[in-house]
Amino acid sequence: EQQQRIRNFCILAHVDHGKSTLADRLLQTTKAVREDVLARQAQFLDDMDLERERGITIKLRSARMNYTDPRTGEAFILNLIDTPGHVDFGYEVSRSLAAVEGALLVVDASQGIQAQTLANVDLALKNGLEIIPVLNKIDLPGAQPEKVLQQMVDVIGIDPTLAVFASAKQGVGIDEILNRIVDFVPPPGGAETAPLQALVFDSYYDVYRGVIALIRVVNGKVRKGDRIKMMSNNKEYVVDAVGLFTPAQVEISGALGTGEVGFLSANVKSVGDAAVGDTMTTVNNSASCALPGYRKNKPVVFASMFPCDSSGDGFANLQVALSKFTLSDSSLTFEPIFSSALGNGFRCGFNGLLHMDIVQERLDREFGMDVLLSAPNVVYRVRTRSGDEHMISNPSDIDPAGIAEIQEPMAKVDIIAPQAYQGALEDLVRNRRSTMIDLQFLDGNRIRMLYRMPLSEIISDFHSNVLARTKGYGSMDFCMDGYEASELVRVDIALQSSIIDGFAFIEHVDFAASRGRALAQRLKDIIPRHMFKVAIQAKIGAKVIASESIAPFRKDVTAKCYGGDITRKQKLLKKQAAGKKRMKLVGTVSLPQEAFRKIIASD
Ligand code: GDP
Ligand code: MG
Repeated sequence: EQQQRIRNFCILAHVDHGKSTLADRLLQTTKAVREDVLARQAQFLDDMDLERERGITIKLRSARMNYTDPRTGEAFILNLIDTPGHVDFGYEVSRSLAAVEGALLVVDASQGIQAQTLANVDLALKNGLEIIPVLNKIDLPGAQPEKVLQQMVDVIGIDPTLAVFASAKQGVGIDEILNRIVDFVPPPGGAETAPLQALVFDSYYDVYRGVIALIRVVNGKVRKGDRIKMMSNNKEYVVDAVGLFTPAQVEISGALGTGEVGFLSANVKSVGDAAVGDTMTTVNNSASCALPGYRKNKPVVFASMFPCDSSGDGFANLQVALSKFTLSDSSLTFEPIFSSALGNGFRCGFNGLLHMDIVQERLDREFGMDVLLSAPNVVYRVRTRSGDEHMISNPSDIDPAGIAEIQEPMAKVDIIAPQAYQGALEDLVRNRRSTMIDLQFLDGNRIRMLYRMPLSEIISDFHSNVLARTKGYGSMDFCMDGYEASELVRVDIALQSSIIDGFAFIEHVDFAASRGRALAQRLKDIIPRHMFKVAIQAKIGAKVIASESIAPFRKDVTAKCYGGDITRKQKLLKKQAAGKKRMKLVGTVSLPQEAFRKIIASD
């Protein structure tokens, strides 16, 4: 029976451990992709420009391979589902894991276990996946696959008998990996005769065909012409095509059967209506319940977005651009706001800082929208004196007078690094209001540090600091861990004595004054000189905690009298003049985008 010959799996790896290279190799070995195509387009599964530039996999893709087991001559269908590798996309990772029965856990044998390795294993175990460890890069002189495997046995409790030593780059161990998949990844369960339940594990927007949903058929089957509905909102559609990823999209005339992975299009207009995690069923003979785990997207980081073009057109154009944008990325949320300093804009919700950067870049590239983003912040829970609780995503909306308590989101952070950097890391987390949960020794020279700390401390430049303080040898991952009351205050920044709401941030009382001062100083360095003096203040309530000023240009004096400082600033000005400036006129002062970014950079 067909279903018994299907194997659905994914590849989990810490960034750069070789996921894409191994995927390419599997496609090549099973001849799913012609060699010349691969040679031209290495890393087949990451097909968005931005992704390749950033070296990360943002969108999940899938590939179907035909594999004839050389030992028995039996034919198998192997469906590889690609998973996004970054913490920003945690929910998407977990949905794609719900679509498979097994995982190749790729670990660089010269690097050993990293923070994402452990986070991935956690997810895989939660989803009940069979884990096949792949010790990759054994061609490297520094590779110690036996030692790393022992580490994985000790720390993760992995079954060492399933492990494969491999070099994705040189094609070593690939046949063994394919055989392990056939032997140890269970075929999909589910019943072909049951009502349709199809899990949407990804969806994307195609300009010609509307939304393409990537689905795993868990029960029943689905074909062109079927009337289906989404179980989260009961919206009905007629299926206009189903098909497979070979990995090119190929339409099929028959049904996608139980256990199969493929795509479906049905004239859905927005990816929000075929959301990741939702269940599709047929209108006639509906399934009685949705598959578990559907969660409405909840942004974790908010920032205000303003068009750099401050004419009325800028705002209207941005509104159109954002509406179009969310057809293809439903994890972005937006609603109009008015800022007295920055004008008309939108309050936007993002999955994380990386998502925020990507949105800003895509708006620029795909829509020609030059936008400025205010300082990002997390979502606070506020209890008023009258006992009501509500969530606040804009620091400017916090009214200190009526508030009994502010709670902030917490996170658990997992850091792995060589022991030599323990002191430097402890120093880093000490300034981040953290409490240690655990300290483990992984092997002779590496440690794992587990901390609990406010999410706001992580969305700042924490990750880059971990890398800097460990000279790139450290890695980290984090997950959300509830809300906690804390003594928080709002710090305001004023330019020429008027408060700029896009700069406001929430900070713990113990750190508010020092961070306010440090920010005022950084702004002094970043804001270009004007024809007049620019005054910068940091305030908590009515109290001024820092005061800086930027001297004006003086036309009657030659530039060299200013020494090195002015040339540096002129260079900066020139750089800002070139290309996209992302400057915003606030009152009479021009502010560069960078000024807003500096708010979250705390060291
Ligand atoms: P990903 O981030 O997990 O997708 O990792 P990539 O597949 O992009 O690989 C990261 C880097 O490691 C690339 O420069 C690859 O060429 C390299 N790489 C991947 N597999 C191997 C291997 O088996 N041996 C060696 N020496 N390098 C490898
Ligand atoms: Mg990759």
